[in-house]
Amino acid sequence: FTQPQMPIKCAGAPQKAMYLAADHLRRNAVPADIRFALPGQAMFGVPFYARALDEVVAHYGIAPMFGHELIAVDGDARRARFRVTEGESTRETDLAFDMLHVVPPQSAPAFLRESALADAGGWVDVDRQTLRHVRYPQVFALGDCSNTPNSKTAAAVRAQAPVLAANLLSAMEDRDAVEHYDGYASCPLTTSKGRVLLAEFGYDGRLMPSFPLDPRRPRKAYWWLKRSYLPRLYWAMLRGNLGPDWHRERSFGDALPGSLRP
Ligand SMILES: Cc1cc2nc3c(=O)[nH]c(=O)nc-3n(C[C@H](O)[C@H](O)[C@H](O)COP(=O)(O)OP(=O)(O)OC[C@H]3O[C@@H](n4cnc5c(N)ncnc54)[C@H](O)[C@@H]3O)c2cc1C
Repeated sequence: FTQPQMPIKCAGAPQKAMYLAADHLRRNAVPADIRFALPGQAMFGVPFYARALDEVVAHYGIAPMFGHELIAVDGDARRARFRVTEGESTRETDLAFDMLHVVPPQSAPAFLRESALADAGGWVDVDRQTLRHVRYPQVFALGDCSNTPNSKTAAAVRAQAPVLAANLLSAMEDRDAVEHYDGYASCPLTTSKGRVLLAEFGYDGRLMPSFPLDPRRPRKAYWWLKRSYLPRLYWAMLRGNLGPDWHRERSFGDALPGSLRP
């Protein structure tokens, strides 16, 4: 299983597929040597959640390959080539596979990436709080195409939309921005078929769970939330009904909760 350089849609999505596969193989007593290759040096960008995910990969016996970026695939020979970064040095290495799950690098659509609206990385260049373009004040942007340094999720779009609407209306009346986006994003990680670790966070790794429960514990209730509630909410969002918003900054102790059973 591979994960490309950030930013990508839903930072945990490559892991979701991996945990579901690992769980399925284990339930069917199929032995597997699973590796997870990623360019970064941790399982998740927010250390609070990364430590919990370390436990999940250990539970499945998955070997994380940090500093590994997939650069080529030879499907016929079943070999994958990686650029490996160790400190200041880089090298390339090949790995044989039976099955390869690839998540490709991602970008904004070309008509935005190649326009004057984009920053050097190809994302629409907006202020991370007001969502107003930093050079073209009549332009606003939200969602995956923008360069706000949040995790690119529909949950982020849900939090950004009211902020953008309020600030756009304000701009049309020549007033300053009235609302500020806090970087909220949510990544429901399917740690097994039946449980989800609901990672919710904002700018600078601030913890912003919707519920006052330790979010590092995979829960059956969150599986239901993801499988049954959120798909309906996404369709409602498209019609302008954003549903409830309970996220807020909360703090939790450093110690991992006992029994992090995926
Ligand atoms: C596997 C996976 C799992 C995910 N899981 C979650 C999750 O559990 N929770 C969560 O909150 N988020 C999740 N996400 C992320 C979420 O899907 C995105 O963040 C969200 O869809 C972003 O919405 P958007 O409208 O900004 O962009 P998009 O949904 O990408 O919409 C952009 C639209 O623009 C269209 N478009 C592109 N070019 C043109 C053009 N030239 N002309 C006209 N139209 C064009 C595209 O076809 C597309 O429909 C997941 C994503 C993936 C891939």
